[in-house]
Amino acid sequence: MEIQITNLSKIYDNGHQALNNVNLTIGEGMFGLLGPNGAGKSTLMRTLVTLQEPDSGEVIIDGLSLSHHRREIRQMIGYLPQDFRFFPKLKAWEFLDYAASLAGLKRKKERSSEVERLLKQVGLEDARDRFANKLSGGMKRRLGIAQALIGDPRLIIVDEPTTGLDPEERIRFRNILSNLSQQGVIIILSTHIVADISSTCSAMALLNNGEVRYHGSPDDFISQSAGMVWRAMVGFDELKTLKEKFPVITTIPSLDGYEVELIAADQPLKEAVPIDAGLEHAYVCFMENNV
Ligand code: ADP
Repeated sequence: MEIQITNLSKIYDNGHQALNNVNLTIGEGMFGLLGPNGAGKSTLMRTLVTLQEPDSGEVIIDGLSLSHHRREIRQMIGYLPQDFRFFPKLKAWEFLDYAASLAGLKRKKERSSEVERLLKQVGLEDARDRFANKLSGGMKRRLGIAQALIGDPRLIIVDEPTTGLDPEERIRFRNILSNLSQQGVIIILSTHIVADISSTCSAMALLNNGEVRYHGSPDDFISQSAGMVWRAMVGFDELKTLKEKFPVITTIPSLDGYEVELIAADQPLKEAVPIDAGLEHAYVCFMENNV
């Protein structure tokens, strides 16, 4: 299973170029699509799930061309859109039952075992009789991923799934995706939250202004900022000066002043020591230097 995206471009009717000559190859496992708001991530996701058409370029999914095999491709995809909503008056299990019947599971018994399997997979067995639109944000998102998993899709696309979740739910959601990614499927996770990518993805791309600015492994991305991340203890005035000159990533107040981590090509001040870069450092570094 592989996705090949070649020279994909999309200009909206208002003239905005949301995708500009995007080229990506995506293999099995979890693929992180990282980029700030407005980068073009949703446009790319909606194109892959056949909800909108590109102006030019080609997408091949598992050997099938998106422009000629929309129906077949749709059948292999599970999609959790960014603004997923539930109907009022449906309980969690009823919603999944309804979604399963829309997905073509006609026999009641077959649907019912699929619903129970999905509720279990996303840890919502105890919430099965609660109204779907009354669940907590994290539970709603888990129910959303459950509907995307109906019929065992081989390509799962989730658009900004962790936005607005508390840390515990965010980790829980990531773990569900991470477990799925070990089952020979492709998961594309689009996010503007760097931490969503670091712990789970084997490959990633960075999208900005509709262009792919990086495509490769998270580790190689991080290594690009080696030697450029510094830590120092500074006083309040020094902190202000540093912030004017360098991108400061973290500022932790302590009894002696502030512990800061910042990006700089050369040692920014005498007391600064170089530290290992993480994905968040690398992201800030990349956006400062390349975009
Ligand atoms: P992201 O998901 O990375 O936040 P989007 O794909 O939603 O980015 O949007 C990319 C750009 O295209 C943004 O500038 C957005 O305002 C614009 N855009 C998105 N949808 C439309 C649309 N239907 N018509 C016009 N412009 C759009």
